[in-house]
Amino acid sequence: MNQVDLKIVKFGGSSLADANQFRKVKEIVTAEKARRFVVPSAPGKRSSNDIKITDMLYTCQKLASEGADISESFGQIRARYLEIANELSLSYDPSAALDEVYENLRNGATKDYAASRGEYLNGLLLSSYLGYQFVDAADVVRFDANGVLMMDETMTLMREKLGKLECAVIPGFYGADENGNVITFSRGGSDVTGSLVARAVSADIYENWTDVSGVLVADPRIVANAVPINTITYEELRELSYMGASVLHEDAIFPVRAADIPINIRNTNAPDAPGTMIVASDSAASDQFTGYTITGIAGRKGFCAINIQKAMMNAEIGFCRKVLSVLEELNISFEHMPSGIDTMSIILPEDAIHGREKTVLSKIRKAVSPDRLEIEHGISLLAVVGRGMRRTRGTAARIFAALAHARINVKMIDQGSSELNIIIGLLDGDFEEAVRRIYDVFVSSTITEQS
Ligand code: ASP
Repeated sequence: MNQVDLKIVKFGGSSLADANQFRKVKEIVTAEKARRFVVPSAPGKRSSNDIKITDMLYTCQKLASEGADISESFGQIRARYLEIANELSLSYDPSAALDEVYENLRNGATKDYAASRGEYLNGLLLSSYLGYQFVDAADVVRFDANGVLMMDETMTLMREKLGKLECAVIPGFYGADENGNVITFSRGGSDVTGSLVARAVSADIYENWTDVSGVLVADPRIVANAVPINTITYEELRELSYMGASVLHEDAIFPVRAADIPINIRNTNAPDAPGTMIVASDSAASDQFTGYTITGIAGRKGFCAINIQKAMMNAEIGFCRKVLSVLEELNISFEHMPSGIDTMSIILPEDAIHGREKTVLSKIRKAVSPDRLEIEHGISLLAVVGRGMRRTRGTAARIFAALAHARINVKMIDQGSSELNIIIGLLDGDFEEAVRRIYDVFVSSTITEQS
């Protein structure tokens, strides 16, 4: 492996939720010289019923905008930062910065400003604790007047600033427009900041530290002890994320992908675990397989199917177009369109037609005069994703045999031309069991064979 000189390390909210987590972060950062630029989130939840600082800040801003007193709710935020500073015996006292934020909130600060202070204050604490220079993200992440990220300007500002520094802490989640107004990314946006920094300084790796040991093959709420994926390509990750796996902020992929910088998802609470490497599909690293054939399984509930039947449908030129024009006219996007000789179905999210079902049906009826037309509810889509499928025969057979053994009825099958995924439509009630069965066939059985 090449020597790694420069790593960007981004830590999520749970990795910096209290002083003890800060200690773990310091150990990780100082364990490798290459970890020179650190991007923190705001303190997250310390336990499942805790509240994230970002959410507390949004609440304060809302209260202030309604003219309510925020001394108590801001007091809780203040207490969390002070507790971290005190427990770590920091030489830096955040009181003045906290006072300033409090005053600004009372004086009608914007939502974005309020939310951004979680990262800002945490960055101040972390820079003091690590002895790294603090770089305010408002000085290096630039947005236009419409709140859209200005990539070129951001790269230039970051390169100018960070090029001169050995080590720095750059808070995640926010930047500013040309007039200095603070603007945030959407929720989870510290991932994007990490990615931007990685690209600006041409990092060798972007390490994204969180509270799981990587991207898991399946949702752990469905498959207990699901194993992590060791290497995944950007394309596969996109497929899995689209189908509901929550890993990284969507906009965090593009900046590093364009610069060919791998992302390594790591666990702050298990730093020795290698985590998941997210790599380009044409890189040598993408040839490393787990030995499971598939890379991951994800899926979502909440779809419905518009089923259309008409004799001689396949001979009627323009039939599909007419049906799809109805959806276009109503601004409805669909997911899949499996068809037979005299039938076609359109699978789409329930909420896309909720409350408009009658209109959709009557417009389709008018457009193509079908023999039968119905909407079927309660459909799930499950995606089995894996770059290994292209070169392995029998993958589909194994998937469908597993479902057949479990007496699960398959309502739709769709394999993309890239052979990167197989999408299966099922009834909602079969969804979890289907995920478990497919996981067992590809992963559990392989692990048992190997041991
Ligand atoms: N603190 C922000 C949020 O909760 C951003 C982040 O954590 O990435 O969404």
